[in-house]
Amino acid sequence: MEDLNKIAGISPVRLGYKSKFEFKCHPGVPCFTECCRGINIILTPYDIVQLKNRLKLSSREFLAVYTEPHLLEKTDLPMVTLKLLDDERESCPFVKDKEGCIIYKDRPTSCRYYPLGTATLQHKEGADDDGFFFFVNEPHCKGFEEDTEWTVAQWREDQGVDIRDEINREWTDLVVRKRSFPPNIKLTEKAKQMFFLVSYDIDKFREFVFDSTFLERMDVDDATVEKIKNDEIELLKFGLEWLKGILFKQTEPEKQADNFADQAKSD
Ligand code: SF4
Ligand code: SF4
Repeated sequence: MEDLNKIAGISPVRLGYKSKFEFKCHPGVPCFTECCRGINIILTPYDIVQLKNRLKLSSREFLAVYTEPHLLEKTDLPMVTLKLLDDERESCPFVKDKEGCIIYKDRPTSCRYYPLGTATLQHKEGADDDGFFFFVNEPHCKGFEEDTEWTVAQWREDQGVDIRDEINREWTDLVVRKRSFPPNIKLTEKAKQMFFLVSYDIDKFREFVFDSTFLERMDVDDATVEKIKNDEIELLKFGLEWLKGILFKQTEPEKQADNFADQAKSD
């Protein structure tokens, strides 16, 4: 598995919401689509929901065709990145030389942030409500030579990342929290399976919730059942909240995760 820390050119300068920079990206820049090659794109749970729906695939199919698994260092938690093509330039599967990104409206959160990086998406300690952003300074990127001025807050809103960050918040919190654990506290393989199921395989998680004894065992109220039955994002939020409970809050979290993982396998 590839080391996700090998991310080229990350500038150490910490930026906040009010930090200013000049940047513009458009099809006329000489580097058009250069940033869509040879790059690690960590996928968030919300990215996967959007992309698999865009491509009309199940989450399982999307994971099999378009992603690569990793373990995030210091957490031992499963992560997935977009699988790049096996061409000379390791291109993103969604980039075309002339058109650029063919799934632009549903592009992943990392692509939206670019040329910024965010500590929450890299799951760095210190990623807090004050914001922790940085430039991904890649030499080929000529967008910094343009003169459109942004604050980080304006860039996030323009690129539609604020809403995505909100939906992914529970997930990034989980990962950052796991990272702060002493290295000798390990999650079991089954706990990691449950993390993977909820975070990335939403269609399988839906089956697990509705086609097993899960709802009875968890005593979920009718209003919540109705909400998560009809809304995939609500199902994702519900799953992440539940995951937090079994991994971190309750008295025997590992045991509970193991029990549910056993059930998920047998259902
Ligand atoms: S998803 Fe789109 S924006 Fe992101 S790397 Fe691929 S082509 Fe580029
Ligand atoms: S390298 Fe920078 S300027 Fe060039 S296409 Fe990518 S984001 Fe835009």
